[in-house]
Amino acid sequence: MPTEEQSVEVTIIGGGPIGIELAAALAASETSYVLIEAGSIGSTIEWWAPGTRWFSSPERISIAGVPLVTPNEDKATREEYLRYLRGVVGQHDLNVRTGERVTRIERDADGFSLTIARSDHGVGGPAEEADAPDAATGRRTLRARQVVLAIGNMHRARRLDIPGEDLPHVSHYLDDPHRYFRRRVVIVGGKNSAVEAALRCYRCGVDVALSYRGDTFDPKRVKYWLRPEIEWLIDKGRIAWHPRTTPVAIEPDRLVIASVDDETDTRALDADFVLLLTGYVQDRTLFDQLGVECAGPTQAPVFDRKTMRTNVPGVFVAGTATGGSQQRARVFLENCHVHVERIARAITGAAAPWSHPAEYARLEES
Ligand SMILES: Cc1cc2nc3c(=O)[nH]c(=O)nc-3n(C[C@H](O)[C@H](O)[C@H](O)COP(=O)(O)OP(=O)(O)OC[C@H]3O[C@@H](n4cnc5c(N)ncnc54)[C@H](O)[C@@H]3O)c2cc1C
Repeated sequence: MPTEEQSVEVTIIGGGPIGIELAAALAASETSYVLIEAGSIGSTIEWWAPGTRWFSSPERISIAGVPLVTPNEDKATREEYLRYLRGVVGQHDLNVRTGERVTRIERDADGFSLTIARSDHGVGGPAEEADAPDAATGRRTLRARQVVLAIGNMHRARRLDIPGEDLPHVSHYLDDPHRYFRRRVVIVGGKNSAVEAALRCYRCGVDVALSYRGDTFDPKRVKYWLRPEIEWLIDKGRIAWHPRTTPVAIEPDRLVIASVDDETDTRALDADFVLLLTGYVQDRTLFDQLGVECAGPTQAPVFDRKTMRTNVPGVFVAGTATGGSQQRARVFLENCHVHVERIARAITGAAAPWSHPAEYARLEES
């Protein structure tokens, strides 16, 4: 039987940058809160391949009034940012419980009862694919009067549902490119993740082929500094390019692709590894348990723009959790800081003791 051991005013679910920034705002106003994170803090960033850099400038992803200072004023790497998050939690002495996953949440007359299970990784990434914890294994329960879902939206890879997708040489995530040195890697996708993976693998001495259902790279979906390089490498034949194709089957040493114009026009690409980098979907379990209304093609939660309150009294959403299963990244850390300001005001009546430029809230992915 799970034990009940804690009761707080606010529980924040999710220890990504936005959950942490909100925890700092609540701590500053002396509101009783706890932040519950299934993995380590910054779990979504933790599963990026080693050395991956943020696309965003440091000042746009800094949180809670703590400057993010990087070597050579460059964009932060995964490792630098995780170190930074530890520093923020330490500096604000935040009440963060890691390795604990909220598996069930119920509303009653006095607030919420949360069932919490031990968890060895965050919700998302390759570890989640290999082993999603059993939702029934409650360890303790926690009471809260209000709940903030800062759970992110990259919990599962968007599957293609083709034969061979679960073979051991197939992954939905880029690993350390060094692993693929002098091997043949076929990458499927044509947005930032796929293009960046192709460039990193190429520079790492990998024989790279890229299959994409589009004709060309969409300037709205591929960063403007990545496009010239990938286009040049394709033009020079250094990266094999298979536009207007879609994967239909994966075999132990090859990927079969078909033309999007004629599915009988197929060809096989030799592959030691296949990387299916075609996006992510959100785990909606907690929204469904609470009865949070979700709408539209992305099934994004519906919320009040001034307060971030959902249709369920006492339930707020924050960060990329508000974006649902995005086809194109419209909601990302850079433009979510305003969520913290709104929730802090709604719950405590006071603003956080730091601020971000108002125009960040309107940033479009660039
Ligand atoms: C390669 C790559 C590069 C990127 N570059 C950028 C960039 O340059 N700029 C940018 O703005 N964004 C970028 N992003 C997106 C970035 O990851 C998000 O913007 C950022 O992580 C959002 O922060 P968040 O706090 O909203 O959510 P997350 O960081 O996703 O945090 C959510 C947390 O909730 C936890 N969680 C979920 N469910 C539960 C549960 N039931 N119980 C307990 N914990 C739970 C998860 O483990 C996770 O740690 C990039 C993403 C990738 C993959």
